[in-house]
Amino acid sequence: MSSVPEIFGSMVFNETVMRDRLPKDTYKKLKETIQKGKTLDVSVANVVAHAMKEWAIEKGATHYTHWFQPMTGITAEKHDSFISAVEDGNVIMSFSGKELVKGEPDASSFPSGGLRATFEARGYTAWDPTSYAFIKQNVLCIPTVFCSYTGAVLDKKTPLLRSMEELSKQALRLLKLFGIRANRVITTVGPEQEYFLVDKKLYDQRKDLIFTGRTLFGSMPPKGQELENHYFGTIKERVAAYMEELDEELWKLGVLAKTKHNEVAPSQHELAPIFSNSNLATDHNQLTMELMQRIAKRHGLVCLLHEKPFDGINGSGKHNNWSISTDKGLNLFEPGKTPEKNAQFLLFIAGVIKAVDEHQDLLRLSAATAGNDHRLGANEAPPAILSMFLGEELTDILKAIEAENEYQPHATALMGTGVNVLPDIPKDTTDRNRTSPFAFTGNKFEFRMPGSNQSIAGINIVLNTIYADVLMQFADRLEKAEDFDAELHSLIKETVKAHKRIVFNGDGYSDEWVEEAERRGLLNLKTSADALPHFADQKNIELFVRHGVFTEDEIVSRCDIMLEEYCKLVHIEALTMLDMAKKDILPAVASYMDDLSNTALHKKALNGKINCDAETDLVTRLSDLFAETYHNIAVLEQAVAAVNTADGPKTESADYRDKVLPAMAALRAGVDAMEELTSAEKWPLPSYGELLFGV
Ligand code: ADP
Ligand code: MG
Repeated sequence: MSSVPEIFGSMVFNETVMRDRLPKDTYKKLKETIQKGKTLDVSVANVVAHAMKEWAIEKGATHYTHWFQPMTGITAEKHDSFISAVEDGNVIMSFSGKELVKGEPDASSFPSGGLRATFEARGYTAWDPTSYAFIKQNVLCIPTVFCSYTGAVLDKKTPLLRSMEELSKQALRLLKLFGIRANRVITTVGPEQEYFLVDKKLYDQRKDLIFTGRTLFGSMPPKGQELENHYFGTIKERVAAYMEELDEELWKLGVLAKTKHNEVAPSQHELAPIFSNSNLATDHNQLTMELMQRIAKRHGLVCLLHEKPFDGINGSGKHNNWSISTDKGLNLFEPGKTPEKNAQFLLFIAGVIKAVDEHQDLLRLSAATAGNDHRLGANEAPPAILSMFLGEELTDILKAIEAENEYQPHATALMGTGVNVLPDIPKDTTDRNRTSPFAFTGNKFEFRMPGSNQSIAGINIVLNTIYADVLMQFADRLEKAEDFDAELHSLIKETVKAHKRIVFNGDGYSDEWVEEAERRGLLNLKTSADALPHFADQKNIELFVRHGVFTEDEIVSRCDIMLEEYCKLVHIEALTMLDMAKKDILPAVASYMDDLSNTALHKKALNGKINCDAETDLVTRLSDLFAETYHNIAVLEQAVAAVNTADGPKTESADYRDKVLPAMAALRAGVDAMEELTSAEKWPLPSYGELLFGV
């Protein structure tokens, strides 16, 4: 490997390359476009496109693509070569500004939730110059946004950019009141990515892994994760080789891959990058997931990004570390050294408390997927209930502020100076609570609900918008204040008082918390089918429309897309289970019972007195389970057939939740019990033990 600084970003058309290769005035104009969000002039685009193409060809690229993020949650690309035919039958390599700036992929096969009728199949992609172009597998990839002919947004990037812009706008209004200068406020994200690695040879023998990304059957191995010796354990050679190659490939693409370690479950690992702005972090997380899967194959491995590949074993999440800072580098969640700084810090923290409390539903549903339903609330991941961990010190400070208001008779007088006596806040003493879905960790918030397989775009759209909304309300009030300090003080106090129910520093995995949360009136949306429909609630439509992030149509269609996706995933899982149970599992068990019966018969033939109790008992128990499974297959088939698909995705998803998933669980229970009684040789699937300890 060449030195890391040498390879880092070597496949990215980044700042350095632009400065090197673009004429000065073009570079200046492009920078302006990027910084001010202006539209790019065609003449500038032509020059940039030419330079990009030359650079890409030198790096071995033959094709280019507009790389975009449709509602599927993965990225999409259509490769066009640079060739243009010229008269003498030859080709030249060309790439115009128009091709760089705008594309017209056929949009008809991407989910639109009814926003784009198929007869209007045209979709547009437009370059997002705030995210650098890069080369992947000899293709120049140009990060783009994606919308329909009529302008309806069909991707995840556009609303993310809008939400970042809106948060910046509202935060700047507040900063101005504090006398803090900044041109922009930037939301930053560092997503920690968990994943499993399994041996490809074993993976190939499991239809459930191939079709659904998770095991639909499988009894617990003698050893699971109880010894807790995998977390931060030594990394096995094969895995280390994989991680090394992954790092190198990610670095080439300018992804700041930083930390890697073993996770709690056997075969589970984590990769964390250094944080960057939300847009780049989202693009880079998509690339990370893609490369994780692609590079695994080179090592005879398969990377499982599913939230819950194994029952009874920890699932995988994606911790979305989130903060906001000015373009001058001031982190607004960083406790300050002076009381004035702390007042500003406390206001921004109070804002998060209010945003999380008021929009528990949106945060919950931003992490709602069929896969993540198996993880949230399973005593390994945060429950489906939103709450915030602030740590003792910060909680005490907030309590003190609140109490002061209640107990001081000369409130007004004190309030004025109150701000100035706010305590100096010590930096995080790393009393880290791992069970909280939304934890303050020193100078950022860590949202731990999201699933490992999700794009982080949706989560951050929600975070940025709900926060922008609160900051807007704060700014509206403070801008009008006659006595800023006094108003600030009462605003913080009132906010904390009104929303403190969301703060919980205890054990989020405990049953007591579920009861306590109910007493506090917090939402408990247990499954995706419960959570997702809330997206289109009036309050949420108004919120997103108010900030120009989504139109009402876009919300309604996105809500449908997410519900439909949930239904489709569960449907595929049910069919896969049925297929495996009927074609692989029942025949294998029948054959094993036959062996056992023959053994008993042969023994009896040899000598009628030989003890055949074990064979008889095993065959009896297996026969009962066999019959039960046969019955459960029919029940699941009926449940799938009975799903109401006529009355829209909300009803349909409720049927999958209430009818199909329980039938799947019943089928699985019987099959897993048979696995425990059947010889390993006969069992048609690699066991959990092999999968989890086979790398
Ligand atoms: P852990 O939660 O495992 O203890 P760290 O505290 O090292 O991990 O950080 C986790 C992630 O948080 C990393 O990706 C890191 O880059 C990111 N992070 C750190 N500071 C910020 C910030 N200001 N904004 C967003 N993400 C951040
Ligand atoms: Mg973490």
